[in-house]
Amino acid sequence: MSVPALPIRLLDLPAQHAAIQPELDAALQRVLQEGAFIQGPDVQLFAQELGLYLGGTHVVPCANGTDALQLALMALDLQPGDEVIVPAFTYVATAEAAAILGLKPVMADVDPHTFTLDPAAAAAAITPRTRAIMAVHLYGQCADLTALKTLADQHQLALIEDNAQAIGATWQFSDGSIQHAGTVGEVGTTSFFPSKNLGAMGDGGALFTRSEARAAQLHELANHGQPRGKKYLHQRIGLNSRLDTLQAALLRVKLRHLTNWTEARQQAAARYDAALANVPGLRIPTRQPGSTHVFHQYTITLGSTAVRDALQQHLQQHGIPSVVYYPLPVHTQPAYRYLGYREGQFPVAEQLCGTVLSLPIHPGLVADQIDRIAEVILAFMGGATGVA
Ligand SMILES: *Cc1c(COP(=O)(O)O)cnc(C)c1O
Repeated sequence: MSVPALPIRLLDLPAQHAAIQPELDAALQRVLQEGAFIQGPDVQLFAQELGLYLGGTHVVPCANGTDALQLALMALDLQPGDEVIVPAFTYVATAEAAAILGLKPVMADVDPHTFTLDPAAAAAAITPRTRAIMAVHLYGQCADLTALKTLADQHQLALIEDNAQAIGATWQFSDGSIQHAGTVGEVGTTSFFPSKNLGAMGDGGALFTRSEARAAQLHELANHGQPRGKKYLHQRIGLNSRLDTLQAALLRVKLRHLTNWTEARQQAAARYDAALANVPGLRIPTRQPGSTHVFHQYTITLGSTAVRDALQQHLQQHGIPSVVYYPLPVHTQPAYRYLGYREGQFPVAEQLCGTVLSLPIHPGLVADQIDRIAEVILAFMGGATGVA
């Protein structure tokens, strides 16, 4: 087999940046010359532009996606010991934000097809102390926002959307209306970690809300509890959690390309789908009708951990990187043992940790590379199923 012309990478930020280098350079130079490195004009402009991109929502920038989750919970004025429902299968930050505030993260299992919070499991986890539900739009696709919004409203709980992985994804409600991921709940959050679909060149994050009052409150909390324009007045105990002007200026440039980049990811996913749809023992990502998936990850599911691990090794031997997001569910992580959960309690989350595999996906991944990856997978699976 011939060696591929281009090395295959999980993501390729240098190439992505090279394609827009003059725009990035201009933004960087402008910020250097203006000298307003904290809360410079680009921060508010970026917030406005992202708000428009998301269909008209208030955007409050902050230092990173984990702070955004923490700020969202701080805004709810909860009491220590209040319960917050989180999926057992997520990046740890979701549960961490609740735990660090002295709230109790209550795990619920996820749906085996969408990998996102199972509304029935969330409903079963509600107690008189429950105050919020944190839905995570994992891998680039929304959790079931119709069911979760209804559930939250019925029980007067705040729905928080962790949208770190699904910026630009949309959800279609049963009446046909369409809303952006992160703008449905009481507060939505996102991360501009460099590898996210809209990534900074360092840390960054933001909160979304449709309420102007809530936006003012979140801005205050992210700035030492200081109301906008009232220097050295501290209304509440807050954080120092700001998006740097430099990051905001770079993100403004990248936001202009996000639609194209998302389409490139979706095309790459469609090409993977076509090649891998009917491979015995391998499941391609599930799409939810009417809603869009922005493919932060293209995650396949294998029949067993042994096959998954062997496939990953086989890919590696052919120069193809892949990643397991995430190898351990939150409830079996050492730091969260104090919550008292046991192995076996969230079988779907545990099963997924043992069987998922994320393949390379980024806007610069070309058709030939996808074909090559699919070829290597098909050759392996042919052998694997032949033995089984
Ligand atoms: C990346 C990520 C976060 C954390 O974002 P940071 O900016 O790294 O703090 C939170 N939740 C999910 C689901 C993520 O993928």
